Amino acid sequence: MANRGKLICDTCGDDNHFETNDDKSYVKCSACGREYFGGYNELLELNKANIEEIAKAEAKKIVEDKLKGILKKMK
Ligand SMILES: [Zn+2]
Repeated sequence: MANRGKLICDTCGDDNHFETNDDKSYVKCSACGREYFGGYNELLELNKANIEEIAKAEAKKIVEDKLKGILKKMK
């Protein structure tokens, strides 16, 4: 699976304090104590909206940069 961006805690937004068990069926954020009983998949699911937002923002930026380049050339 492509690891696009970092997963963040749905509660506190931290991305660096996850504790998981061996098969990732349980994840805990040690920064805020949030427990994900659905494990890594639940965390991934909660991050999907986020990841899509980031992807959209990146795509928009690329388009805007291209447009800027085109507009510069027209001058
Ligand atoms: Zn947290």
